[in-house]
Amino acid sequence: MKIAVFSTKQWVRSAFDRALGNSGIELTYLEPRLDADTVSLAAGHEAVCVFVNDVVDGAVVDAMADLGVTTVALRCAGFNNVDIRRAAERGLRVVRVPAYSPHAVAEHALGLILALNRRYHRAYNRVRDGNFALDGLLGFDVHGKTVGIVGTGKIGRVFAGLLRGFDCRILAYDRYPSEELQRSGVEYVTLQELYRQSDIISLHCPLTHETYHLINDYAIGSMKRGVMIINTSRGPLIDSNAVITGLKSGTIGYLGLDVYEEEGDLFFEDLSEQVIQDDTFVRLQTFPNVLITAHQAFFTREATDNIAETTITNIRELADTGSCANEVTVEAAFGA
Ligand code: NAD
Repeated sequence: MKIAVFSTKQWVRSAFDRALGNSGIELTYLEPRLDADTVSLAAGHEAVCVFVNDVVDGAVVDAMADLGVTTVALRCAGFNNVDIRRAAERGLRVVRVPAYSPHAVAEHALGLILALNRRYHRAYNRVRDGNFALDGLLGFDVHGKTVGIVGTGKIGRVFAGLLRGFDCRILAYDRYPSEELQRSGVEYVTLQELYRQSDIISLHCPLTHETYHLINDYAIGSMKRGVMIINTSRGPLIDSNAVITGLKSGTIGYLGLDVYEEEGDLFFEDLSEQVIQDDTFVRLQTFPNVLITAHQAFFTREATDNIAETTITNIRELADTGSCANEVTVEAAFGA
């Protein structure tokens, strides 16, 4: 069975080569991102393997179906970049890796909080420069602060567990509250109440039509002055222009991003010799209280090995049995 692996980086090649074993699967590693311009590279393959910034919209689904591709194997949890309905209409099966390491992402979110608060990124450069002054590095105790978690699925739950070590008051918003979290002291409140009371807000819900630009001017207007916002979920959860306005006015005191709404043209590439054309992204980088990482929250040895192993198992299972527990059906995605 031949699979075209789009958006291949060195870590993808290493992890998948280790995971292949005697699966009988043959991988073609391709560097380009999958989109309408590159979809022809999928010719001669039964499946494509894609990541977060590959574009699997209706046109790409149609082109793949015409080429005889039968399976889309996402090597990530989110499936917002795939037209699931169109895939079902064209008979393409979609599988994903629902959990490869919720710890990796939750720990990164916590890392962003600590780094922003104590300004590790600035302190590191200062000390290297022989500047041992502390002015401008004043932080706050995370202990006792109120942290709001939007989305208490696998990652949100692990994140809540990490925060308990800091004795934080934890508020949460999710359409499906977890009884286990409630028993551990997490208080489920409305989104408005979470915005109103939280010192730190961390996003762990998926990107859907409902959560697109969840953090907009209106939401920011209901937050505490100086709030810290962390997004390790998906870029479009945040309206970038609204957070720029919030940062300029001081309503937002800190912003930690591992994802960005237009990251597809930036992240995972070395653009250090190029002029960045995205003025909004460049503006975000000018704020001293903004810390951006390039979608690396998932990037641990454990997670990358899990991603590769689960992807290979998903494809094998679907081919051998005709079904796969990690399939993203229209029903699973939209409940209809
Ligand atoms: P999950 O499916 O286990 O949990 C998501 C939770 O969000 C669920 O409890 C769901 O009920 C809730 N939810 C859905 N819609 C909501 C809404 N409108 N408001 C509030 N809550 C809502 O997913 P997970 O494994 O915890 O992952 C969460 C997200 O993290 C993924 O969707 C993905 O976008 C992102 N992610 C990012 C990285 C990274 O490297 N930065 C890695 C993995 C996952």
